[in-house]
Amino acid sequence: MDEPKSFRLGLVGDPVGHSFSPAIQQPALDALLVPARYELWPTSGSDLPHRIAGLRAREVLGANVTVPHKLAVMSLLDEVSPLARRAGAVNTIVRGDGRLLGENTDVHGFGAAIAEIDPDASARPTLILGAGGAARAVALALVEQGGVRIAVANRDPGRAARLADDLAPAPIRIVGYGDEELAAELAGAMLVVNATSVGWQAGEAPLPLALLSALPPGALVVDLTYRETALLVAAGGLGFTTLDGLSMLVHQGARSLELWTRRTAPIAVMMEAALRARAERG
Ligand code: NDP
Repeated sequence: MDEPKSFRLGLVGDPVGHSFSPAIQQPALDALLVPARYELWPTSGSDLPHRIAGLRAREVLGANVTVPHKLAVMSLLDEVSPLARRAGAVNTIVRGDGRLLGENTDVHGFGAAIAEIDPDASARPTLILGAGGAARAVALALVEQGGVRIAVANRDPGRAARLADDLAPAPIRIVGYGDEELAAELAGAMLVVNATSVGWQAGEAPLPLALLSALPPGALVVDLTYRETALLVAAGGLGFTTLDGLSMLVHQGARSLELWTRRTAPIAVMMEAALRARAERG
């Protein structure tokens, strides 16, 4: 059978319209001269099995998966990597030899982004705010890099406990989300990561910003939100190094691209495209 002349890739989720993925992936595909289009594939829960079955077509290289399907999609695939199982989320599907493999590239994305700021970041005592899929990816990335001093604080403590259980035997501590407990934890933290979904709206923050003054000198403050959040502005104002979520987004996308194409991702092209997308959307 002839090879298809052009290929398709896409983002499966609901909603998908806000995503930066097409804006980041298409210029990268073009730069690599891969004849493929990256599309948006809005998919409701009831349509998910049909959508995933469609990925078996020869002209499909794979897909990204976003909310709310990152867990549900697992049972529809032929194979799920051990890392994706541990992360509890598939964000990338690769079609190879007619089989669909589920992978998680958020773990690599965070690991690569933080390593650009501090290659030894996993040695820092860390406080992760949040216990959803993104928090799991952050915790796993730090554990994979040898991190052992990781605490998680979440509004719903039960969810934080499930995260710690699922990542055992990694020694992850659960911390209360009250102001006093957070202040005590911040006093010993050299890395703080906001992995909650709080930060997208102007002025909102995952904790009272005054608590940041408890952080020791040299602490690094990361927000997975890919814009300048109130948390990052306040931390920067106090002299701490900060990092927003754009670099993680680019690195997770780059790893997905490498899995689909088996080529080295043009990181600089992707970062430039991501910065452009952010500037255009405000
Ligand atoms: P989830 O829905 O899985 O988790 C959301 C988290 O936010 C939970 O811990 C939840 O706590 C917490 N939360 C929500 N509202 C509040 C609130 N008002 N106060 C305190 N905590 C709150 O989302 P994800 O883990 O998938 O994503 C989290 C964030 O990370 C999003 O902003 C997402 O855009 C970003 N992200 C960025 C990536 C990147 O590449 N930069 C990659 C992936 C995600 P509770 O359990 O109590 O509800």
